[in-house]
Amino acid sequence: MRLVFLGPPGSGKGTQAKKLAEKLGIPHISLGDILRDEVHQETGIGKRIKEIMNAGRLVPDEITIALTQHRIEQADCQLGFILDGFPRSWAQATALDAMVKQLKIELNAVVYFHITEDQVVERLSGRRSCKNCGAVYHVTFNPPKVAGKCDRCGENLFQRADDEEKAIRTRFEVYEMQTKPLIEHYRKMGKLVELDAGKTITEVYEKLIKLVENG
Ligand code: ADP
Ligand code: AMP
Repeated sequence: MRLVFLGPPGSGKGTQAKKLAEKLGIPHISLGDILRDEVHQETGIGKRIKEIMNAGRLVPDEITIALTQHRIEQADCQLGFILDGFPRSWAQATALDAMVKQLKIELNAVVYFHITEDQVVERLSGRRSCKNCGAVYHVTFNPPKVAGKCDRCGENLFQRADDEEKAIRTRFEVYEMQTKPLIEHYRKMGKLVELDAGKTITEVYEKLIKLVENG
């Protein structure tokens, strides 16, 4: 199963991708996680992109395209993957079309996470993440058992720098300008499936499973 998750920041792509990838036994490829790892490890790329990410803008296409290509060519992606947060621009969508062709594979579906801007702000401002294992929580909608601590590994939770108000607004604008137009591209290709992402985590997951099972 090869899926792409498309939708605004905070629409729940990562939360659902983690659950579904575990169920299907395929990798969850989050470009955001891969890029944050580069920043954390202070690699050459990481140093170039730290400020861009904190401000909520898009990392240059040549970087995200090369990282995605490298990742989906790994052996563990042969049976499928969930691509979360890529593509986010026309150049990235065109590059993904070319990668798929070159690898002689097909995308099963592009799942579009539908949600209002108000819900996105509410979700992102309450998001807390674990630096150690990548688990994602919400102070109200998906709280950890012990406040501020990761359920899985016990590490302290933190608030992402790009989850403060100014960066959230920039990210939403970037989404509207650069990523939203891709919806039509995938609709025309017959790949788009729409998901009402404004419900609870469990409700969205149940709908997602149905969409995936119905092909
Ligand atoms: P994305 O990967 O699309 O940026 P996340 O999966 O990180 O979004 O979710 C953003 C925030 O919203 C997180 O704090 C997460 O716990 C919370 N969240 C995710 N899905 C839902 C939902 N269906 N209802 C309420 N909160 C949610
Ligand atoms: P996310 O974790 O998906 O919210 O992504 C966090 C940040 O990483 C974004 O705001 C961008 O700065 C960067 N990023 C993630 N995916 C991409 C992408 N496909 N293209 C460019 N920048 C990206």
